[in-house]
Amino acid sequence: MTKNIIIIGGGIVGATTAFYLAQNKENNVLLFDEGTGRATSAAVGIISPWLSQRRNKDWYFLAKEGAAFYETLLNDLDISNQTELYEKTGTLLYKKTPTLLDKLEKLAYKRLKQAPTIGKISRKSSNDVHRALPFFHPIDEALFITGGARVDGAKLIQAQKKSLANVIEEKVTTIAPTNSGWTLATDTQQFHCDELILACGAWLPELLTPLGYDVDIRPQKGQLIECQLEDRVKHAPVIMPVGEIDLMPLNDGRLLIGATHENDQGYDLTPDWNKLALLKQEATELIPELAETKIMHYRVGTRAYTSDFLPFFGEVDGLKNIWVASGLGSSGLTTGPIIGKTLADWISGIDTPFDSYRKTPNQYITKTND
Ligand SMILES: Cc1cc2nc3c(=O)[nH]c(=O)nc-3n(C[C@H](O)[C@H](O)[C@H](O)COP(=O)(O)OP(=O)(O)OC[C@H]3O[C@@H](n4cnc5c(N)ncnc54)[C@H](O)[C@@H]3O)c2cc1C
Repeated sequence: MTKNIIIIGGGIVGATTAFYLAQNKENNVLLFDEGTGRATSAAVGIISPWLSQRRNKDWYFLAKEGAAFYETLLNDLDISNQTELYEKTGTLLYKKTPTLLDKLEKLAYKRLKQAPTIGKISRKSSNDVHRALPFFHPIDEALFITGGARVDGAKLIQAQKKSLANVIEEKVTTIAPTNSGWTLATDTQQFHCDELILACGAWLPELLTPLGYDVDIRPQKGQLIECQLEDRVKHAPVIMPVGEIDLMPLNDGRLLIGATHENDQGYDLTPDWNKLALLKQEATELIPELAETKIMHYRVGTRAYTSDFLPFFGEVDGLKNIWVASGLGSSGLTTGPIIGKTLADWISGIDTPFDSYRKTPNQYITKTND
């Protein structure tokens, strides 16, 4: 029997869920994506979670499986050879002191046992790195892991949406339960579905608050800049120096520098030129030629985060036939694809390694007492 499924939000979570659900011809899948402020399109795109300082074990499991899942996703989309979209370039990681770098290296070897995607681990002197990346002038030694990757979020969701028959680029303004499913409305049309998936990132409260729910989701403004380097270095690794910024050299000579984490700006998407200049200034200490270049482009997006900075995805008690995912924060391009696939599996009645997450939305979405 045909199942009508509607997904609201076409960032990395919604687009992946839609892509996998649409593989089953018995599912009639419709994706709504308005697009303003979409984090997926603004992101730097670093996929390198293994040496994160975060201690939450469930999050680490999700992130490590998320990084490994990229290979499957790209094969399923038949785009595994598109290096401008995804490439395993490796990651160069820096620490404040040699002792801290030793610790990081130890952690890398420990984690390698459960996460072969980390790849080869080695130390690189500042001279080694400068020889390979002439634009970059590091002072310290680095740890290099070959499994780190970069992804272009905007291109990835474009590839996913291309495979879908029904995508509507409109905002869904209201949702309401019916006896057999859900109705939802845009400014111009009404729709009905059997199953509804809310993958709307930082905008989840807009749809659930009117139904009498408190939603522990806040917007975080993220900005990054793009500069042009004089010399191209193809297949250059992602660079994670000490401090706020990360550096992502692209094969065409562009360099992404980002990103800011601004918790006090709401859903504002206007560029803050002081903050953008600070990103460039910090990068110039490592890449002197940037002093002579202009900012070519900037990106601004809105991340979703929860009060404990952890993501949630699954079901909400009291809301039948609805699935939600949000709060992916700064690592949502890493965890988003596996979250999207997991939602698609649950809706299809398939067990997953992430069943401990299935009820997590109830920790963040609660009925108000009115
Ligand atoms: C500057 C920046 C840098 C980042 N860098 C990295 C990184 O290097 N590595 C990493 O792993 N992660 C990174 N992230 C985080 C990552 O981008 C996000 O966590 C992830 O993309 C969130 O995906 P999502 O699908 O949940 O939400 P989004 O990508 O925000 O998508 C939600 C979509 O839902 C749509 N929507 C919302 N409400 C409605 C509605 N009512 N009707 C219709 N459409 C609606 C929105 O318009 C949007 O298109 C970065 C984020 C930013 C902003």
